[in-house]
Amino acid sequence: MNEDKFRRAAGEVADFIVDYLKGVKDRPVLPSVEPGYLHKLLPANAPQQPEAWQDIMTDIQDKILPGMTHWQHPHFHAYFPTGSSYPSMLGEFLSAGLGCVSFTWLTGPAITELETVMIDWLGRMMGLPKELLPYTEGGKGGGVIQTSSSECVLVCMLAARNKTITALKETQPDVEDCILVSKLVAYFSEEAHSAVEKAARICLVKTRVLSTDEKFSLRAETLREAVEKDIASGLIPFFACATLGTVGSSAVDDIGGIGRVCAEKDLWLHVDGAYGGNALICPEYRYLLNGFQCVSSFNSNPAKWMRMGADGTIMWVRDKNLLIDALSIDRIYYLEDDEEQHRIDYRNWSIPLGRRFRSLKLWFVIRMHGVEGLQSAIRSHVALAKMFESWVRADDRFEVVGTVEFGLVCFRLKGENTLTEVLLQQINESGKAHMVPASLKEKYVIRFTPSNWHYSEEITKKTWDIITCFAEVVLRESRGDGQGLQGRESADSGEVLGREEGVLETS
Ligand SMILES: *Cc1c(COP(=O)(O)O)cnc(C)c1O
Repeated sequence: MNEDKFRRAAGEVADFIVDYLKGVKDRPVLPSVEPGYLHKLLPANAPQQPEAWQDIMTDIQDKILPGMTHWQHPHFHAYFPTGSSYPSMLGEFLSAGLGCVSFTWLTGPAITELETVMIDWLGRMMGLPKELLPYTEGGKGGGVIQTSSSECVLVCMLAARNKTITALKETQPDVEDCILVSKLVAYFSEEAHSAVEKAARICLVKTRVLSTDEKFSLRAETLREAVEKDIASGLIPFFACATLGTVGSSAVDDIGGIGRVCAEKDLWLHVDGAYGGNALICPEYRYLLNGFQCVSSFNSNPAKWMRMGADGTIMWVRDKNLLIDALSIDRIYYLEDDEEQHRIDYRNWSIPLGRRFRSLKLWFVIRMHGVEGLQSAIRSHVALAKMFESWVRADDRFEVVGTVEFGLVCFRLKGENTLTEVLLQQINESGKAHMVPASLKEKYVIRFTPSNWHYSEEITKKTWDIITCFAEVVLRESRGDGQGLQGRESADSGEVLGREEGVLETS
């Protein structure tokens, strides 16, 4: 491909993206392909000779798009929102164009320094305690962009483990690390993300999965009891993870109370704010920072709720030296002279060596939306979620479970779980909307969130219409059939809906 062809193709890709996003609403949200579908469509071997650009784009249309789950579809309400915006795409494109990798400061001074500035900007936008920010005079705070929230949790747990083992070694220098590790315990709630459990498994530490209160939040007393019990039996509590916006119901743990327990018992407290953390850029959510005095590290994922495309998660840490202690392989980092203090080698803050120029897209996103633009995007999701919540509450066939803290509403049909299970199955199979379930204290709920950014009251209303139409059929069938819905062929019910409920033809 020569320069002229590249210019033309790049323009075509831009056109393709715009047309795709404009037309995505007319596609089924979920694809109807079987696992292995693509292998059957593509040649068994790679081409020996260069192929034409047009042929590749034709395959995108004919073979790739039919196998896509359309996250930017207006009726995609699953998981959490996924950030996307033109500024983000441009940042991503430019990063690819510069074709650089950075791991030490010198491999990309601008890459390293823009990353640090973005971490500072975003931290200030959120009103984080200054101890977590990189440019605080005399401070040890700092931050780094990791690929994912899962990686943030893992590297923080590694840092905490290293800190505790190093301290234990001072009094027990002859005891093997693996013996000490076998005594370490990490704490998190039943509503914490599976990433925490995965991190604990990688770190080979024991875990305590703590129960939550009636609002699905972890209370400080629950943690305290578990920690004291473990200490009494000779174990060593070293790490706790609190969540600011759980995946199940976007609940917020008692971060302040948990922080006090962690400070008292010398545990590292990580706060996982992958989704909810983004809301901190709106001052009305700043009250959530009240408990941050004892937080050791925090992550928030702008690729979820801040219009930045995947991937990229920002992590702040109170004492960067503890992170570097755990992950650095050269140990000459406590540099005394001023210039070297400011020379960050991010390879020592994360697991990969080479890193992309990720901060570019965050910079573009913040500059081209402005803080106010990003705030209003979050506020619009919250307002629509509250509106949706009011419709659920007004319909006595349904109930809302948990608190609508951010932009997520968990709801269900009253009665046995099967009703809601069948309802969700029918909606997803119809391709008209896509949502995923959660189980909250044995209650099966459907999670609804406005997931993308061409979202409006009209679309929300249409989603509610889709839900209520399917609900009517599910409830009618459950009344008409003494055996209940379990085991019933869902495709049948789908057909019934297609035949009888003309309302759903247009989505
Ligand atoms: C999405 C999410 C994660 C996982 O994020 P990745 O970046 O995909 O690893 C972790 N915790 C919470 C609370 C989340 O919402």
